[in-house]
Amino acid sequence: MINQNHPFILIGGGSNIVVSDKGLNCYVIRYLTDIPIIEHHGNELIVSGSTKLDTLAEHAAEAGLEGLNYTSGIPGTVGGAIAGNAGAFGQQIGDVVTSADLISLHGKNNTVPGSSLQFSYRHSCLKETNDIVSSVCLNLKSGHKKTLQKERIDILKLRHEKHPDLFTQPCAGSFFRNIEPSSKAEKRQAAGWFLEQTGVKTFACGGAKIFEKHANIIIKNDNGTAQNVFDLSQKMAQAVRNQFNIDLIREVRFAGPFDNMPPNIHNILW
Ligand SMILES: Cc1cc2nc3c(=O)[nH]c(=O)nc-3n(C[C@H](O)[C@H](O)[C@H](O)COP(=O)(O)OP(=O)(O)OC[C@H]3O[C@@H](n4cnc5c(N)ncnc54)[C@H](O)[C@@H]3O)c2cc1C
Repeated sequence: MINQNHPFILIGGGSNIVVSDKGLNCYVIRYLTDIPIIEHHGNELIVSGSTKLDTLAEHAAEAGLEGLNYTSGIPGTVGGAIAGNAGAFGQQIGDVVTSADLISLHGKNNTVPGSSLQFSYRHSCLKETNDIVSSVCLNLKSGHKKTLQKERIDILKLRHEKHPDLFTQPCAGSFFRNIEPSSKAEKRQAAGWFLEQTGVKTFACGGAKIFEKHANIIIKNDNGTAQNVFDLSQKMAQAVRNQFNIDLIREVRFAGPFDNMPPNIHNILW
């Protein structure tokens, strides 16, 4: 039961969030189920927001349905992926969403068309409305099961090679968004490239440092704190501002209070 008198935040896998060392003065609702909840209607899948994204990708490939393979290996839930319009290799989940069942902060259920979620690069309006994705309907294409399964294995291998092992080197994925082009003719530019140019790979704060294979990923060791991650992210953004006059926009969200956080933050998740 959602009660506005008791502040809460909703998380899925928590894979894109750094939680304050000081803890949170609110309830945390975790909407994640180990058993996938997926219904088939021809090429459409209705899936709960609590289902793990990678499990959905595996399920779609095994069913010979094309349109989600690029999400293979992305940690977290379908709900988290919808909220942040998760994507890779030039594709994003918002492209296949036909409708979503939402629960508002007032506890009202609502079915809305995918277009009303205002998907853009790593963003949907859910980040502002804080509506909860209870389930979504995804419209996929028929594909070849064997081809999709082979492609999935290749993507998982690539991720394994390029990304940190989450068990030994915890991270929250790419820290900053790629940079929007200044004209339609150009492509988005990798934040990692700008970070690399500034030499951030040598930066560290306490137990937090930059992943050696990717300048846009912060990893931490056992002694690393959330504050270390925050401080390092500030140093990274400052380095790019100084050298390129570009303000990087964070993809990772912070939860709760941090030393030296901006004064105008009123949300628990920011
Ligand atoms: C190693 C690694 C690799 C990654 N690679 C990619 C990548 O290739 N592409 C990419 O896009 N992302 C990537 N990510 C980031 C992250 O995994 C995704 O953004 C993922 O979709 C977040 O899902 P989550 O359930 O963990 O969300 P959380 O971290 O739990 O939450 C993130 C946001 O989503 C909201 N949210 C969660 N569940 C719901 C729900 N049911 N309804 C409404 N809002 C909800 C939360 O309130 C919060 O604002 C990566 C992360 C890691 C650690």
